[in-house]
Amino acid sequence: MSPVHSQPDRRSPLVFEVHELGRRAGACKRIDTTVPAPADLGIEVIGVPQDSDIELDLMLQSVSEGVLASGTATVQLHGQCARCLDDIEDEETFDVQELFFYPGREMEEDESLVIDETIDLEEVLRDAVVLELPFTPLCSQDCLGLCPECGVNRNLDPDHGHGEKIDPRWDKLSELTGDTPN
Ligand SMILES: [Zn+2]
Ligand SMILES: [Zn+2]
Repeated sequence: MSPVHSQPDRRSPLVFEVHELGRRAGACKRIDTTVPAPADLGIEVIGVPQDSDIELDLMLQSVSEGVLASGTATVQLHGQCARCLDDIEDEETFDVQELFFYPGREMEEDESLVIDETIDLEEVLRDAVVLELPFTPLCSQDCLGLCPECGVNRNLDPDHGHGEKIDPRWDKLSELTGDTPN
């Protein structure tokens, strides 16, 4: 039992024990597990649904200053195509790398810490995923989008069109031949 200081939330599925690394530089621990996604992991147009599966494949390595976590997180993405407004359901793998420092030295504001022999991957995951998400997600790179005239989804009807525009000169002609209002 370690004494309690600023106790991390051990119920969080993203908090991992690192005490078995024993501060022996070079010691390693593999994390290969599936955890439920935390809330608000995303931006307005695309994100990871809460409680959907996140597959973590990480190596925790003891280095002299702390614990280096590196590997990948594979997440489910749910969003909306910026062109055709269709749903996007996707799976994507993001690189994760973070050094968690042992406490007891002068810290920078945004450094991650080993707290009570645990590391909390939530913020790290947030940075790895959210910062990489596209502000204009597309269902596919060559999405045809919506018809600007009638709004039909052109991916479903690639030959969609509204015929040739009438040459404006014909408008003049029809004015001349038509009844002139007077
Ligand atoms: Zn689209
Ligand atoms: Zn149209």
